[in-house]
Amino acid sequence: MTLENVTIINAPDRLDHEGENGASPPLGCVRVAYAAKSAGANEYFIDGQHYPTVREVMSKLPEKTQIAGISYNMGSIDQTVALIKGIFDSGIEKILVGGQAVIPTAENFVKSFADSRIIACSGDGEPAIQGLVLGKSLEDIPNLVYFEDGQVRRTPAELTDYEDLNFEGQVNGFDWQSYFEYTQRFFGHNRASAYFTDGCPNRMGEDELSGCSFCTRRRTGSIRSVTPEQAYNHLKFLKEQGAEQININDDTFFASPGLLKGLAEQFEKKGELGLGLHVYARVSELTPQRLDLAQRIGVKSALVGIESGNSHIRKANGKPISDERILEAGRLCKERGISYDGAFIIGMIGETPQTAKDTVSLIRKLAQEGISQNSYADRFIPLPGCLGYHLIQQKLPSNPVLKQKYGNQFTRWDYDWSVLADAQLELNTSITREQAFNNLEEIRKINEASGVKPIIA
Ligand code: SF4
Repeated sequence: MTLENVTIINAPDRLDHEGENGASPPLGCVRVAYAAKSAGANEYFIDGQHYPTVREVMSKLPEKTQIAGISYNMGSIDQTVALIKGIFDSGIEKILVGGQAVIPTAENFVKSFADSRIIACSGDGEPAIQGLVLGKSLEDIPNLVYFEDGQVRRTPAELTDYEDLNFEGQVNGFDWQSYFEYTQRFFGHNRASAYFTDGCPNRMGEDELSGCSFCTRRRTGSIRSVTPEQAYNHLKFLKEQGAEQININDDTFFASPGLLKGLAEQFEKKGELGLGLHVYARVSELTPQRLDLAQRIGVKSALVGIESGNSHIRKANGKPISDERILEAGRLCKERGISYDGAFIIGMIGETPQTAKDTVSLIRKLAQEGISQNSYADRFIPLPGCLGYHLIQQKLPSNPVLKQKYGNQFTRWDYDWSVLADAQLELNTSITREQAFNNLEEIRKINEASGVKPIIA
């Protein structure tokens, strides 16, 4: 039996880390809603960021909904629990929970409900939702973790081909204008977002925990990308919707070797779009050749994960880049009018009071030399799936006091992220909570002195 009425919900997030909640749509959710539509469903999308309470989100749920798809992150776990309960009580037949947060904890998640109606998506959501819409047996649908006959079952993984994705399809309940209302407030212009490439070269190693020590990005073993023509057409589509600037949310905009070059060729052939682009990048990727191309297509800023001001800490945490390279990449960006925004973390594995100070010093140096005026900084939050989390799990059994204090947070899907952050400081560093916050406060002041909006979690 097909289940045609599908509502995809982005759970309300109360964290608002960067003060920009509501400005950025969850593109993965929108794509899953579109995939449901392609399979013949009557789709509806609700972005919980735009509603103050779970009750209000529930009030928007179309009455005939048969499948509810929910995506959540570390800041919306409580709301997700409330949503699942509310949706259950309304008699919906299936709840598919997906997104980055549930993937590493899918088995615990499913076990905690022990109900065959609650299913976790352990990979790409598109084939999973389509299988449910078409009424296939769960065992025949890829990327699922579900509960049946007292056991947790897992189906094989299947990757979606990015070239088959349709980004322009209209989805009921989704409208760029509702996001521009927020971006006008935060940025003073219409800003949309796009996602062209999935995967990061740092996460391609065989080792399950290779890459940055805090990274929880799913490992697919591949870098998937849309074609340059698709990317160009999508940027053009967003411009037609009224966008003036675009955040490109790829893990790193430079991961797909052909995309940047191909996009520059598209611009040359089909014309400039006059959009400002904001991208993520790795320091090692910022070469003169790549930055020339980036400048040509309108890249205005690159957010780069520098993470620490201490080279040993960077190396120990999967970022083996030298101080010289960090400064050189910044200067190359500056020469081309591209803002070089560093992202830093206080409380990296092995952090000491001195290495945390090194981070503050590097941020100050970047600001004083006019290389980077805006630094993002946060505490290390060891989420399931990252090296920091794994190390804490290994250390807890031999420390009864800390096991008592933190143990139950490291076995559950509905953890409290702030407790995980405290555990990181206590088990993986030699700095205190107070020292961590003092360093973050110093970074905030450096940003403030540079005259930019301080963005500190
Ligand atoms: S944090 Fe970014 S650069 Fe590091 S492994 Fe993850 S996606 Fe790659």
